[in-house]
Amino acid sequence: MTDKIQNIQSPTKRLFSPVWSASLTRRRIKSGKALFGLTGREVRCHKCQQYWPADTEFFYSGMTKRGGLAEWCKACYEEWRAERRARRLQ
Ligand SMILES: [Zn+2]
Repeated sequence: MTDKIQNIQSPTKRLFSPVWSASLTRRRIKSGKALFGLTGREVRCHKCQQYWPADTEFFYSGMTKRGGLAEWCKACYEEWRAERRARRLQ
């Protein structure tokens, strides 16, 4: 837990933001899966339908996915995991 907090506060923390090809970017913007917002390239979370910056601060990296990021934002994953944990305890 302490490690996690230090990691968030560290100025040297490196964010991973996968590079997309021009055609993939065009396709994603056309289909509404991505857009260029105030913070640069943003992608839509499949679960909450919100747009978030396309980097590992908001999405877990998922190299098996096209685009290199998971389809759900971190907040949605955490919510889902908490729900699943609560169900298991019942
Ligand atoms: Zn989400």
